[in-house]
Amino acid sequence: MKNRKELLRGIPKIDEMLIAEQLVFLLDKHPRAVVVEELRKITENIRKGILSGEQDHVPSIEEIIERVKKNVTTEDRYSLRRVVNGTGVVLHTNLGRANLSPKTVEHLAEIAGHYSTCEYDLEKGGRGSRHDHVEEIIKQITGAEAAMIVNNNAAATMIVLAALAKDKEVVVSRGELVEIGGSFRIPEIMEQSGAILKEVGATNKTHIKDYITAYDEERTAAFLKVHTSNYRMVGFTKEVELPELVELGKKCNVPVIYDMGSGLIADLSRYGVDEPNVTAAMATGIDLILFSGDKLLGGPQAGILAGKKKYIDIMKGHPLARAFRVDKMTLAAAEDTFRQYLDSREVLKENPVLKMITVSKEELWEKAEKLKQALTKKAGGFEYSIVPCEDSVGGGSAPTTVLHGYAVEVDLKGIPVQKAETMLRKAELPMIVRIFHDRIRIHVRTVDMGEIPAIGQNFSQIKKLTEGGK
Ligand SMILES: *Cc1c(COP(=O)(O)O)cnc(C)c1O
Repeated sequence: MKNRKELLRGIPKIDEMLIAEQLVFLLDKHPRAVVVEELRKITENIRKGILSGEQDHVPSIEEIIERVKKNVTTEDRYSLRRVVNGTGVVLHTNLGRANLSPKTVEHLAEIAGHYSTCEYDLEKGGRGSRHDHVEEIIKQITGAEAAMIVNNNAAATMIVLAALAKDKEVVVSRGELVEIGGSFRIPEIMEQSGAILKEVGATNKTHIKDYITAYDEERTAAFLKVHTSNYRMVGFTKEVELPELVELGKKCNVPVIYDMGSGLIADLSRYGVDEPNVTAAMATGIDLILFSGDKLLGGPQAGILAGKKKYIDIMKGHPLARAFRVDKMTLAAAEDTFRQYLDSREVLKENPVLKMITVSKEELWEKAEKLKQALTKKAGGFEYSIVPCEDSVGGGSAPTTVLHGYAVEVDLKGIPVQKAETMLRKAELPMIVRIFHDRIRIHVRTVDMGEIPAIGQNFSQIKKLTEGGK
């Protein structure tokens, strides 16, 4: 065995490696500085390993170049990348919530890559308003007098409170002081906006008389109803229904605002999706509703405000409107998403979110069957079976709704399931899957047919890389 000095002397010189044939090839594809930095890091690690005694041989130039190649290609990858969602959670917040339809994406790309009428009026030949592009279509779909769009529903809540209730009281039921996730909590948003929270009722029960008692002609700026999106209360409970609150608002001449969370417009009652409906809420004569663009609406991240023109106008003129304004890509995606709703049947087939929720069990079975076949063919040696599973809407919507689906279950025949799961996450097209009793489950509801070959590839890779050394 060589001594440390000899080993250290044996580490290839960076200059030497830079002229090696395989490396010249790498230099064609990656910046020289990146490659040199990688070489430096790797040789430095080898040096440290030798000095500490952990390393008792020097890798060959070829081995080092292989490592460089692996590292630079990973480092070249985007941070925000496409993944396969095998969880069966349709609006997976960690995986980007709603998918847009191919047609929406096409329109979005055209607007993003070219000049557009973002703030230009073709009729007048001069400056236009960016609100106009979506306002008409939102009015048409929801039945509202006016509408506007901001960055997300949290921003919508903030601007409503800041514009209509600064230094005044907003009456909210104690049963609706919701935390949505991250740092969105109704009491805290209220504080940030400058509005004063006036809690009424008890956690489980709030009556109309509680709102009446809380009302003060001088101090009350609004009655706010918040949908308890991500939880449900059962048992001895009572909340004031929207029509009753709207009626009270009219009597007191106080605006009634409803934070609906999910913007459900389609009729999904047949599918067990228990969420308030946008058009039904508008039909009560309410002053303002707010909802997310990327929950059950199935559009881009956005917050939609719809309702009485006099309130929308106040918000359009508020300084926060500029801070919360959406970019042209969001506008393009939102306009196209709303347009799909003009045909209430077609939208169920066109919008990916609605499609994934309303897909039939037969279709899911067929998809599972196709996936199983592809896996059996590409990555034999594992055992695949189709099992019933429970999927969900996700995104903090319809928390009690179970969507019955199918998963392809993979018995890895001795390969540790955690190891396989890690490999799937780190694959060329990463996959997020579920683990169930030492087996991997791919819920097919959220898998695109077009992803099946890549899934097969991923499993065949696991097979290859674990062969021999289980
Ligand atoms: C989800 C949700 C929000 C936040 O919406 P984002 O679009 O995620 O900002 C606010 N209020 C309710 C009731 C929600 O469900």
